[in-house]
Amino acid sequence: MGAKVKTMERRGSTFIERIYLVEIFKGMARTLSHLLRNLKDNSKLYVRHYPEVQPEIPAGWRGRHRLTTHDDGTVKCVACFMCQTNCPADCISIEAGERHDDKAEKMPVSFNINLLECIYCGYCVEACPLDAIRMDTGIFSLTDNNRQAFIIGLDELLTTPGAYPEEDQKKGGA
Ligand code: SF4
Ligand code: SF4
Repeated sequence: MGAKVKTMERRGSTFIERIYLVEIFKGMARTLSHLLRNLKDNSKLYVRHYPEVQPEIPAGWRGRHRLTTHDDGTVKCVACFMCQTNCPADCISIEAGERHDDKAEKMPVSFNINLLECIYCGYCVEACPLDAIRMDTGIFSLTDNNRQAFIIGLDELLTTPGAYPEEDQKKGGA
């Protein structure tokens, strides 16, 4: 059985349509009617009044990174380089130093992430054997007028708090 073919009438074939002028005015009239309608009542518009109204960022969404600490406030990271090795964007650079407590032998003396090169894949979080790096800060907006400001270091990584309760993290947060 052959396919049923529906023949459509070609549009734009009349003289009036081919000179476009009437069609342009029809389009502008439609735009104007929407404008007037929305000026009168904009409650049905899908507009987010950002930045006055901030979006809700769900737990598990990969935001800016942070480094976690032990209960006593010491850094969990042991400078194993797993995150740096697994980073596909090659935007993590760590310098390891000797550690003088009973937690581990090494710790980072510098830990930099270039946020302009990061692709927010979360592989660093996945690769870390100690849950020492997370992307649960809820920070999604990064703006500055200086490229250097997008390279975040150890202090900033350690002092940025997580934005979600611990239980949400266990349910699969980044
Ligand atoms: S999120 Fe991905 S690209 Fe960004 S630092 Fe982690 S591993 Fe690298
Ligand atoms: S953050 Fe985790 S994976 Fe990266 S160096 Fe520290 S302990 Fe290793």
